[in-house]
Amino acid sequence: MVDCGEGTQHQLKLHRVKSSKIDHIFISHLHGDHYLGLMGLISTFHLNSRTSPLHIFGPKGLDEIITLHLKYSHTQLKFPLHFTETSTEGKNLLLEQGNIRVFSFPLKHRIPCTGFSFEETYRQQKLIKEKIVGTGMSVAEIQSLLQGKDVVEADGKLKYVASEFTHQPVPPRRYAFCSDTVFDPTLIPYIQGVDLLYHESTFMAADKERAKLTLHSTTEEAATIAKTAKVKELLLGHYSIRYVDLYPLLWEAKAIFDATHLSEEGKTYVIK
Ligand SMILES: [Zn+2]
Ligand SMILES: [Zn+2]
Repeated sequence: MVDCGEGTQHQLKLHRVKSSKIDHIFISHLHGDHYLGLMGLISTFHLNSRTSPLHIFGPKGLDEIITLHLKYSHTQLKFPLHFTETSTEGKNLLLEQGNIRVFSFPLKHRIPCTGFSFEETYRQQKLIKEKIVGTGMSVAEIQSLLQGKDVVEADGKLKYVASEFTHQPVPPRRYAFCSDTVFDPTLIPYIQGVDLLYHESTFMAADKERAKLTLHSTTEEAATIAKTAKVKELLLGHYSIRYVDLYPLLWEAKAIFDATHLSEEGKTYVIK
């Protein structure tokens, strides 16, 4: 889960996402709209007698906030909670699990803030089923082929060549999330060429000065970042409540970077 604003639990229920599936939570910064749902979620995990560890990644101070909540409610959590403090210096590897790596990188906002990128180290291959049938391959061997790795016997002899049993390899995918940030081209190296970029666009272009003042971005600025970084697709979000109709925001961004979408509550965006 990336950021956890107020109402997160309600949204999880509404969209039928099982909160028990959440093992890692990444918090970009300590403005309320990005983390005030966290204590509620932790409390629910506790009440539901969760036992599996929960890993939280976030800025300095977040562990203290959580500890104080637990201290004054005399709560001894029923599950291990591991906290990792994020750094606002450079790109840092936070987590490596399976074929996914998660990194943090700095964003320019009113308080310390980081973006996150989710990067596959390899893309799961698709098996050519007809070729597998009758070979007597073990599960471990199939798993190796799925990772695009040849199967080699103990004596070094090649047993199965991955390219013979799998379809054409597909490049690994990358997704970057930039929560709250002023227009800042120095973040481009961290998001260069990603398949999908979420970049806040709190304001329309006409409110550019307001964006600068509050260290947020406009639609045109988000689109300019996407275009310059040569990302494949852009997702806008974090819209100011002053805009009732969001389509004008989309059109403004599309004029600069056509592969732009509005992020909407409950919608799923698939990276092909
Ligand atoms: Zn903020
Ligand atoms: Zn915010």
